[in-house]
Amino acid sequence: MKIIIISSLVLVILFIIKEIFRKKNKATKMLYLNQERCTGCGACLKKCRRNVLAITDNKSRKLIEIQNPINCTVCNDCVRACKFKALSLVDKPIK
Ligand code: SF4
Ligand code: SF4
Repeated sequence: MKIIIISSLVLVILFIIKEIFRKKNKATKMLYLNQERCTGCGACLKKCRRNVLAITDNKSRKLIEIQNPINCTVCNDCVRACKFKALSLVDKPIK
């Protein structure tokens, strides 16, 4: 019983720490797409649960598009999913 309580506490603490970093990241980082590297494979699209990304199918080539940047939580899942290094998190421009 003690182990279950301790494990649960550790999980809650890890979740809180992750949320703090995510909020800090959202304030300072944004998603960037290097179109030259994108192959339109769609791997990033499958990872995003926030409906941020979409595939556009030009006659010449398929390409990912950052359609709803406001929904992005900068969780980094799509960046990790892209083996072509087309996506990255960059600093937001200072206004
Ligand atoms: S995973 Fe990378 S290469 Fe594939 S569609 Fe997304 S950004 Fe483009
Ligand atoms: S960083 Fe996260 S929320 Fe933003 S587009 Fe990528 S997977 Fe979606």
